Amino acid sequence: LQVMGPVERLGHLAREVTRGLDQAQRLRLLLTEPSERELHPGRAAMPTGGALSVQVRGLRFGYGDQEVLRGVDLDIPAGHTLAVVGRSGAGKSTLAKLFVRLYPATAGQILLDGVSIKDLDLHGLRSAIAVVPQETVLMHDTLRRNVAFGRPDASMAEIEQAAQAAGLDQLVASLPEGWETVVGERGLRLSGGERQRVAIARALLKQPRLLVLDEATASLDTRTEREVQLQLDRLAQRTTTLVIAHRLSTIREADQIVVLDAGAVAERGSHDDLLRRQGLYASLWYAQSEEERAEADNPAGHVGR
Ligand code: ADP
Ligand code: MG
Repeated sequence: LQVMGPVERLGHLAREVTRGLDQAQRLRLLLTEPSERELHPGRAAMPTGGALSVQVRGLRFGYGDQEVLRGVDLDIPAGHTLAVVGRSGAGKSTLAKLFVRLYPATAGQILLDGVSIKDLDLHGLRSAIAVVPQETVLMHDTLRRNVAFGRPDASMAEIEQAAQAAGLDQLVASLPEGWETVVGERGLRLSGGERQRVAIARALLKQPRLLVLDEATASLDTRTEREVQLQLDRLAQRTTTLVIAHRLSTIREADQIVVLDAGAVAERGSHDDLLRRQGLYASLWYAQSEEERAEADNPAGHVGR
């Protein structure tokens, strides 16, 4: 037993335990064992092609006992954009994380071009999707490798172009070691906005088949945000996009808007549909318009906010 690896040891143990049980008992044990799926991760190759179609069916998830997603259904036809909005804590970031299998769903599924992501090979799944998370954690590596992560074959010219579109070029130019500066843990510590720009450059370089943006420009100053948003909009035009918006004005034109509330879809429709409903979306919209007006009237109000 000592020469076996942990997985082999588990298999051995399972055989030991199940020995002596009859066929039916053994089958029951296999069907009820939750870790069984984790021991046999997906092996199917990612379907080839361009922009992916997305279907989310009865998706449930919780961190421990707390249920965060309570049966979510979504459809994004290939090449379209779906916006997800909702109050803080509604479960938006959790939804984004399940797309790249950061956590396994408790029930329900996410299908890409009709294939459940839990059946897909993890590497293939993650190569096809770019996520710009709300909080980007950088690898302890050079800035160049952090941007080229997911596209190790990218040329320096492509990397430079993505960096410029993400508003990262000025930072790189200001560093004595430029692209070879080591960042992340024990490296140069970048600000939240700078890390977000790295993640955006990474996504632009990757040209993904599914783009997931989780409040992707929230840490940028207003002027940079506008420029970077334009680049993200251009990328979104060419692929399937799930966009979680902090500023509702950026998703007005989305094909469909879904309002998530306490882990369930509360409303869905176009911006105009949702305003007419006078529901949660409308109240979020008016509250935000009010805020933006106050900021525009009193720019000094930014200080100390
Ligand atoms: P949103 O992005 O809509 O603000 P989140 O998906 O981040 O919402 O969070 C949904 C709920 O899950 C919140 O109650 C949050 O506190 C909780 N939560 C988020 N991440 C974790 C985690 N890693 N562990 C435990 N609870 C979490
Ligand atoms: Mg969030």
